[in-house]
Amino acid sequence: MLSFWEKESFLDYDLLIIGGGIVGLSTACSWKERHPQSSVLILESGVFPSGASTRNAGFACYGSAAEILHDINQMGESRALEMVEMRAKGLQLLRNRLGDNEIGYEEFGGGELILQAEDFDITAIPYLNGLLHPIFGKEVFVHDNSALAGFGFQSEHIRDFIGNRVEGQIHTGLMMKNLIACARSLGVEILTGAKAFKPEWINGKWRTALEGNTIEFNSERVAVCTNAFTESLFPGLDIKPGRGQVLITAPIPGLKLMGIFHFDEGYYYFRNVGERVLFGGGRNLAFGEETTLEMALNPAIQNALEMHLKNMILPPETHFSIEHRWAGIMAFGEEKVPILQSLGNGLVLGVRMNGMGVAIGSEIGKKLCDIMS
Ligand SMILES: Cc1cc2nc3c(=O)[nH]c(=O)nc-3n(C[C@H](O)[C@H](O)[C@H](O)COP(=O)(O)OP(=O)(O)OC[C@H]3O[C@@H](n4cnc5c(N)ncnc54)[C@H](O)[C@@H]3O)c2cc1C
Repeated sequence: MLSFWEKESFLDYDLLIIGGGIVGLSTACSWKERHPQSSVLILESGVFPSGASTRNAGFACYGSAAEILHDINQMGESRALEMVEMRAKGLQLLRNRLGDNEIGYEEFGGGELILQAEDFDITAIPYLNGLLHPIFGKEVFVHDNSALAGFGFQSEHIRDFIGNRVEGQIHTGLMMKNLIACARSLGVEILTGAKAFKPEWINGKWRTALEGNTIEFNSERVAVCTNAFTESLFPGLDIKPGRGQVLITAPIPGLKLMGIFHFDEGYYYFRNVGERVLFGGGRNLAFGEETTLEMALNPAIQNALEMHLKNMILPPETHFSIEHRWAGIMAFGEEKVPILQSLGNGLVLGVRMNGMGVAIGSEIGKKLCDIMS
């Protein structure tokens, strides 16, 4: 039962956003930056954002050489470059909005390990550098096997090393806390533990009910930013969940590797967090099992991560222990581009971030506001 006061003050908004991950929060910030007087409410089903945005690896990356080459083969040069550019713009917007200190941004660069069994054609590097030069204004990739020893990798498993001069890393927790703080400072209201049902268009307004509750919100516009969790609201879209497994070690004194690294076309990714190693991936070992919304560990993949750490990433005989393990849920589809769509009457979807939402999330929020405007 609601009071008169609650009905007067808590139920009507100009913009209602479903999903409080990086895309939902960025959409809210972009909208309030443009329309400071408007009222914006985010409904988030978790106690805090509970999909991918607080669970990722924090790579501020644009795509490894093998990944970009793969994308060019799949979707053509201009679409693949569009995605790189979207990542670059998104990261710049995130850095400008919150500040490098507030997201823990560090630009150590990184690189890609091409393993012995891979058939990546190293002569493609100048071609890729030529394509990316207009975006970054410098050579992005450098083929440099001499760098391997400096990072302490066990190089007998690695055929080539492609260094990357433009990538950085963030502290995911810090970034999300400050993005929430930024949204709140702009006047955005956020309700957590608030799982929304599909909005309905009734008498010229969107009405959105909450699961397990009688409360219904009215709004002029709705932005749906539920990424992998969109199927229950809007069934039939080309969105498949993809669970990502991650582990982090206890500090390893004298750790040599610094920066962000990928191998196996980006299916594996690791980085330093101070003197720790954060390592994730291996979804390609069990695509079927990992196509799930269940937030759980997969022991086989976690073991594979540990074996790669021991046998390739850390120098031989390095003593390490795993301090923590977790999983997060990404969203993929046949096409490696996000779904940015208006469904009419001011309802928009910004979903399917394809595992690169840290990079593109801010730009997607901006684009959703363009569509709603
Ligand atoms: C392990 C892992 C590593 C990753 N590493 C990187 C990386 O290094 N770099 C990079 O760029 N990207 C990375 N990503 C991808 C990136 O984290 C995601 O693309 C991004 O966070 C997606 O943001 P989002 O806001 O679209 O979705 P989410 O963060 O999933 O947010 C959607 C939110 O909607 C909420 N929700 C769902 N249904 C409802 C409902 N009915 N009502 C209310 N709320 C609802 C969920 O609780 C969730 O908080 C990684 C992802 C994972 C899982």
